[in-house]
Amino acid sequence: MSALEDEFGDVIRKARSGLGLDVASVAAACGLTERDVKSMEVYTRRPSDVEVDRLASTLGLRASALRALANETINAPDGPWHVGDLTVHRETTHHPSHCYLIGLPGGACAIVDPGDDDVVEAIAKASRQGGRHPVAIVVTHGHHDHTGGVLALQKIIGVPVHIHEADAASIDGVPASALHTFNDEGTNVSIDGLSWHALPTPGHTAGSTTFVFTSGSASAGFCGDTLFAGSAGSARAGYDRHLASLRERLATLPPQTVLYPGHGPATSVRDECIHNPFFPA
Ligand SMILES: [Zn+2]
Repeated sequence: MSALEDEFGDVIRKARSGLGLDVASVAAACGLTERDVKSMEVYTRRPSDVEVDRLASTLGLRASALRALANETINAPDGPWHVGDLTVHRETTHHPSHCYLIGLPGGACAIVDPGDDDVVEAIAKASRQGGRHPVAIVVTHGHHDHTGGVLALQKIIGVPVHIHEADAASIDGVPASALHTFNDEGTNVSIDGLSWHALPTPGHTAGSTTFVFTSGSASAGFCGDTLFAGSAGSARAGYDRHLASLRERLATLPPQTVLYPGHGPATSVRDECIHNPFFPA
């Protein structure tokens, strides 16, 4: 079990700013003072269940999930690291942000979000260990804590970089011949037995993508900052789009899909359907 990336205060602040509401209007709608709301957002005041329910209804969040978050009763499993025939290995940059290696044992592997030069050496080595060979770098979105090591890693392992066209400018410097972009339709890729679906999940950025790798009926989704266990990344490219990505795209993946976010512990679609305040009621 592992502590979550976000707390109750982060979730209500993200929902409030996503909806374009100021503290005063949320406070008024919930029968609270501005000071109450502000101190909840910075974790210095724990709300009662009644207050949580009012906040949930004002902010369009799921009350049961928000209550569990306020009472700190949620933990994420932070795993598993074997999904069907796939194995997942994680390195964490100093930011901290997660870089993952996913592959078939003794076969093709892909690297997700080499976010800084400080993970490049270890991940390049891991990508060639035990008979593995790298076939791709995939980038969930164009923020520097997810892209910072892309150039250095691509130079060493020489494989194509897959990224949504809307975020591709963030990895300027990758040779054009190695740049594989896709649009809002997403794309399916299969190389040497390693298969994934690039599922656009815009909202955190315009090109945010969840890469869903499959092995039989098992699947592993790398969702970047679209979702954190029990929460979501900030909606810098539109709150409505971000909610639609969470509710219509991630929540409808097979429940057993393991989700590996860019920050914080790993989780699953099944667990998020219970615990995520941004998911559908
Ligand atoms: Zn980000």
